[in-house]
Amino acid sequence: MIIKERCEPIELEIMKYIKVRSTLSATEMKNYSVLLKGYEGEKEFDKWTENLSCDCFILNDLLLEYDHNVFQIDTLLITHETFYLINVKNYDGDYYYESAKWFTLSRSEIKDPLLQLKRSDYLLQQLIRSLGFPNYSTEALLVFINPHFHLYQAPMNLPIIYPAQLERFKNKLNKQTAKLNDRHSKMAKLLISLHKTTSFYTQIPDYDYEQLNKGIVCSSCSSINLNLNKDKVVCLKCGCVEPVELAVLRSVEEFKLLFPNKKITTQMIYEWCAVIKSRKTIRRILRTNFKHIGYGSSSYYVSD
Ligand SMILES: [Zn+2]
Repeated sequence: MIIKERCEPIELEIMKYIKVRSTLSATEMKNYSVLLKGYEGEKEFDKWTENLSCDCFILNDLLLEYDHNVFQIDTLLITHETFYLINVKNYDGDYYYESAKWFTLSRSEIKDPLLQLKRSDYLLQQLIRSLGFPNYSTEALLVFINPHFHLYQAPMNLPIIYPAQLERFKNKLNKQTAKLNDRHSKMAKLLISLHKTTSFYTQIPDYDYEQLNKGIVCSSCSSINLNLNKDKVVCLKCGCVEPVELAVLRSVEEFKLLFPNKKITTQMIYEWCAVIKSRKTIRRILRTNFKHIGYGSSSYYVSD
């Protein structure tokens, strides 16, 4: 039973928008690809957890804190006996393991993904104890989801589930017959209530309103070359057609995410959407869908 869904990371969403509206540097592009690949791996793993038949709670994408240490868990699987803390990696290609270090085949060392896992496991155990549930044990696992991943020279005892072992791991979990009880559900709810939403992002490039290209972005292919055709916007690249109102509302949501401190005004959204030639249309859409605050040129809109 999934009791906390995974959402697209805000950092990734912001990067996607900036990518369309400006030019990312090579490093920024790389950061973006890493974020995207990681998220795709997590979504792939979610398909796997959907098929679990044992009695369990699935909490995706938790950001928790214990004693001022923030830690992140891709998936927490709560079964009767054990809390499985799972971090998902979407690495592909060949890697090797030597003296507790990780390398690519071209001999460049990468960050040991087990270190982060161990730290999260330790902090989770402490947190669970501090919340008054000393009897639950945790098991931390690193899941490699990509079938094209291979790790040479890996010792047998690493807490890793390789792609070829996922099916057996599922069978093992599905054999558990013990049912969850009220304490499990209390614990799960408590952890969800402690989930933090972060407001600082390390990977996002600097951007400002002036620099970004204005226009409506196609909902289908992410092109910014759209034309207005009566009450529809038409993508010049893929031909996708969308009612103006929906396209404007999407753009407002994007604007709110990119510029949480800017006020939504008719003029602002008119400039931001660029392709809509009538301020009146923008004003009508904003009035219908948002709450209007203030008068005249200093008035603005907020979500209802
Ligand atoms: Zn398109």
